[in-house]
Amino acid sequence: MQTPFQSKLPEVSTTIFTVMSQLANEQNAINLSQGFPGFESDQALIDLVTKAMKEGHNQYAPMAGLYALRESVCNKLNVLYNSNYNPETDITITAGATQAIFTVISACISKDDEVILFTPAYDCYEPAIVLQGGKPITISLKLPDFSIDWSEVKEKISSKTRMIIINSPHNPSGTVLSKEDLLILQELVSNTGILILSDEVYEHIIFDGLKHQSIARFPELAARSFITASFGKTFHNTGWKMGYCVAPKALMKEFQKVHQFNVFCVNHPIQVAMATYLDNPENYLSLSSFYQQKRDLFLDGIKGSRWEFIPASGTYFQLLSYKNITVEKDVDFARRLTVEHKVASIPISVFNKKNEDPKMLRFCFAKKEETLKQATEILKKL
Ligand code: PMP
Ligand code: GLN
Repeated sequence: MQTPFQSKLPEVSTTIFTVMSQLANEQNAINLSQGFPGFESDQALIDLVTKAMKEGHNQYAPMAGLYALRESVCNKLNVLYNSNYNPETDITITAGATQAIFTVISACISKDDEVILFTPAYDCYEPAIVLQGGKPITISLKLPDFSIDWSEVKEKISSKTRMIIINSPHNPSGTVLSKEDLLILQELVSNTGILILSDEVYEHIIFDGLKHQSIARFPELAARSFITASFGKTFHNTGWKMGYCVAPKALMKEFQKVHQFNVFCVNHPIQVAMATYLDNPENYLSLSSFYQQKRDLFLDGIKGSRWEFIPASGTYFQLLSYKNITVEKDVDFARRLTVEHKVASIPISVFNKKNEDPKMLRFCFAKKEETLKQATEILKKL
């Protein structure tokens, strides 16, 4: 007799990124769905990784990460955000932001703890909370600009609230939090034991002269916060799955208790290479203008069409409203757009449990100019 198996995540199926990328490949469609650059990482960085491998950095790295890289990251943060992170105690190099997020949640969330998050939300937060027995408390971002209604946050904070997850620049909407947002958050959590997880993977992709409001800029908030980041987004190598988590010493100690048993340490030669590569700020500070050009090219390409939009303020995603084109559900329209018109995108209703569908699709513009032009030629005719 087979033992009955009770799934811990009965409502979870294959992620929309896998589904849409697979469909795009099958249909030979232009893939603007899953977020990854359609061009190569800098050859100089690839050469540094090759050199590190040839020089023999091929065994386990230290558990928290290579000291030189931890130092480079902390220097970057401290210079950019006027923070005070210590490379000895406050940082761990991770297998991408996904592992960092999972590890933070595993280390901090216990049964029945409530975690406030904003929907549409990046898809890896909620399952991680549920796996720990925690309770996701979702708050819908307010249309049309996907802003946070802080009065609703105040209402939803309870004695069980253990954590609030924020993500700026925001995937999938491309909006960014302002200094005022962060100050309100600071006020709301002061005199509570609430922790913050600030997912800042798109920190270097921010447009129109806006400044990234990292949690690291706000000492009172930083004292209760984990920040997660991804080298994949910044250096065009999402397939390397490298990132990091920073937090004050006491929080990082708890993080590392989990980290040491879920990966112990991460890719060593890439850490050697990144430590050198990060020391040139041009390698990340040039990213905003690089991607702003791509956003503008994409939006110019559909100008005058029936698609409606608010230009993304950050990330490499643009939401387009199709309410003037069809009444279909976003999941159905995204599928039909891929099969019939050969452009793949991401429907955003899948990023919230209630499947709220504001009739918008997410397009990734981290692609070569010719790819973006081909896609907009098709989209503007709809
Ligand atoms: N957070 C957000 C908001 C993301 O968009 C992504 C990936 N696109 C991640 C986390 C995960 O990053 P990584 O690929 O480094 O695991
Ligand atoms: N973060 C990427 C996106 O938003 C995808 C990552 C993944 O495939 N899990 O598209």
